[in-house]
Amino acid sequence: MTKIGLEIHCQLTKLESKLFCNCKADYRNLTPNSNICPICIGLPGSLPILNKKAVEKAAMISLALGCQIPEQISFFRKNYFYPDLPKNFQITQYNAYGPTSIGSDGSIQIEGKEIRIRRIQIEEDPGRLVYEGISEKTQITLVDYNRAGTPLVEIVTEPDFENPRQVRIFLNVLADLVENLEVSDPYLEGAMRVDGNISVEKGNRVEIKNVGSFRDIEKALHFEITRQQSLVDRNIEVAAETRHWDEARKITVSARSKEEEQDYRYLPEADIPLVTITQDKIDNLRKQMPESIVAKKERYIKKYGIPTQVAEVLSSDKFYSDLFEKAHTESNAKEIANIITTDLMGFADTREKKIDLKVTHRHISDLADAIVGNKITRNSGKAALYEMIKTGKSFSEIVSSLDLGSVSNASSLEKIIDEVFKEEEKAVKEAKQNPDTINYIVGKVMRKTKGKADPSTTLEIIRKKLLSA
Ligand code: ZN
Ligand code: MN
Repeated sequence: MTKIGLEIHCQLTKLESKLFCNCKADYRNLTPNSNICPICIGLPGSLPILNKKAVEKAAMISLALGCQIPEQISFFRKNYFYPDLPKNFQITQYNAYGPTSIGSDGSIQIEGKEIRIRRIQIEEDPGRLVYEGISEKTQITLVDYNRAGTPLVEIVTEPDFENPRQVRIFLNVLADLVENLEVSDPYLEGAMRVDGNISVEKGNRVEIKNVGSFRDIEKALHFEITRQQSLVDRNIEVAAETRHWDEARKITVSARSKEEEQDYRYLPEADIPLVTITQDKIDNLRKQMPESIVAKKERYIKKYGIPTQVAEVLSSDKFYSDLFEKAHTESNAKEIANIITTDLMGFADTREKKIDLKVTHRHISDLADAIVGNKITRNSGKAALYEMIKTGKSFSEIVSSLDLGSVSNASSLEKIIDEVFKEEEKAVKEAKQNPDTINYIVGKVMRKTKGKADPSTTLEIIRKKLLSA
């Protein structure tokens, strides 16, 4: 059986400062090596000071993933020599003497399957290597330490995934979860990075590193299953090794024989004292945590009667569920959920598009009120929404300028229907004998009113007129 386990590095992008110093946690778009200090570049004599907020955010992730939080957490030095790591060790957590990392033994459900979380640890991000030109051929590598010391949480799963599809679903759920917790923006470049461990039956475990995106991890795992299976089928041993994902060629390539945990010579980090986490503290954090996606979904279903699938889509998207929360009232909640999930989400489905969106909660709530109050048809509502997205103009302005008001007023609608009856004598005769053909007449009325007639009122009037005609 194929077994896949994951190690996910998630930056705590909502923090102000780095994990052990006062440099900015947001290292993006800064001049190289301008966001550094003696602590994060590891100058001799500098002392790390733990960012307490990072511990709190990491604890929230642990709680959200059902992990145990120990009474005391400790830090370790993971030793290795690499240019992006100026201290030659990374400060991280390690369960050398029992569980002292921020979380262990958790689990979450994806599509009814339990994925166990082995461990969650707080650690610092290394710097970034920037290659001049193509990495294999270049002679020049530059180092930017702006990222060094950025707070990270590493989430290690048990090898519970059976296929790459489950991995993709899990990663999407996890990204939604950290976004909903307000600890990270998982869609920032490099904010969530995934390594995978994968083995097929009778094969050794292979680690895949350097995968840039969720879509690529799925591809890389598919590639590995095929590669490893074909080796096993030919009785060739699958080497236990680390492989890199080659984004351009869409294949994995051998990087090095896999190092073992003992190769890192973990040493207790004596510069950072043990941190005690009391039960009170944990209870307090729980109170501060935003409503979970699951609880939100249940509330949408129970309180407003929003259909399960709509509630699921809405609750898992932080941007749109926030918009819903601001826009809805008891009476228009269902309509707003409908507008957001069927129309708005299709328009703005990426981070950039969401940020650029000119539509506010006011727009959405005015529109929903008008639909609920039969002042505008759903069809016209769609047109108004498109216009609001394009221009940012108010709902009432758009309705009058585009003349979208509903023709539900019975006398004006009757007049139009009378016209259609005159023009379509043959169809009227037919509809009297065969009620199934009535839709043809409804269609004609809709065309004449440019979709502004309320369909149920239209149908009612036509039926009445057919009886007397
Ligand atoms: Zn610093
Ligand atoms: Mn790590």
